[in-house]
Amino acid sequence: MQRSSQEYHKDLTFEDGDIVLCSKDGTHFRLFSQSLKVASGFFRDMFTLPQPNTRTDKPDIIQLEESREVLERLFGLMCGLPVGYCDAGSLELIEDILNAAEKYEMPGPAAYFRALMRPRVTGKPSPLLQTPLRLYRISCRHRWIEEAKAAATLTLALDFEEPQHRPALHMLESRDLLRLLDLRRKRKNVLKKYLEDSRKFPFGKDADIFACQHCQAGLPALNLVWKDVKAEILEEMERRPLGDTLTVFTPPCSRFFAKMSRAAACHACTNANGDLLSVFDHIRRCITTLPSSIDLSFDDDGSSHRQIHGLKGLNHSKGALDSGIC
Ligand SMILES: [Zn+2]
Repeated sequence: MQRSSQEYHKDLTFEDGDIVLCSKDGTHFRLFSQSLKVASGFFRDMFTLPQPNTRTDKPDIIQLEESREVLERLFGLMCGLPVGYCDAGSLELIEDILNAAEKYEMPGPAAYFRALMRPRVTGKPSPLLQTPLRLYRISCRHRWIEEAKAAATLTLALDFEEPQHRPALHMLESRDLLRLLDLRRKRKNVLKKYLEDSRKFPFGKDADIFACQHCQAGLPALNLVWKDVKAEILEEMERRPLGDTLTVFTPPCSRFFAKMSRAAACHACTNANGDLLSVFDHIRRCITTLPSSIDLSFDDDGSSHRQIHGLKGLNHSKGALDSGIC
């Protein structure tokens, strides 16, 4: 759909360009077909087809389905505009650019924007990582193993029960969501098994009383309190499977241990019993050894992701492009 007054992009309009591409919002780009042929497998294929009206002064106009924001970044990289020019401000925009780069078979821009999304590429966390679920979805969608694994690890800090994560969770393919849930369950189960080890946590033994180690007074056994505390620790792990809230002696972790400490205090001599700090240390060490990312290979995925989002869109767009040449 051409607009009556043609708006040309000020940085991506070359007087001697031989091809004009138009964004869905009506911005025109006058470029060199040779550059497009080098940068894009899609346009390379398209320009090998017989072209109508090849000997006129007016270049063909090709209507594209992407927005100006997406196309100026793709073409900006292709034409050697400064890298800062091509920075994308939001994950949403990057996702659209990556989809377009895939559709038009432009590996250069795809690699550039992939690098932008890599965790700690600049030595400090990228603001994009504040949305690890979207980062994970995009990485799975493009079958980027390294990025998908890193993003999966970042999701461990999220409480999936919180409503703000629901939209992003709903957008995941079921197999991708299952990988995240498996990792969370695995971490919790390993910790659960560890907490049940009575050699490290000798509170679970069946005994009604124990003797105060200071005055030998008989005290109620800790097994019931430990059972409660264990359940609270595992509940916290389920809420935040990263486990970092259990490795620092602040609430909720300190609250669990205060409960144990109160139960272990002698009512006769008021001294504390047991070495609760070593219990905390055991838990902290266990958490550092838990599996921290997903096992991932896209071999078992077949080609379903690409079929749905890539080739199908490509064929469709080629048809639209052919009919869009005017
Ligand atoms: Zn005592």
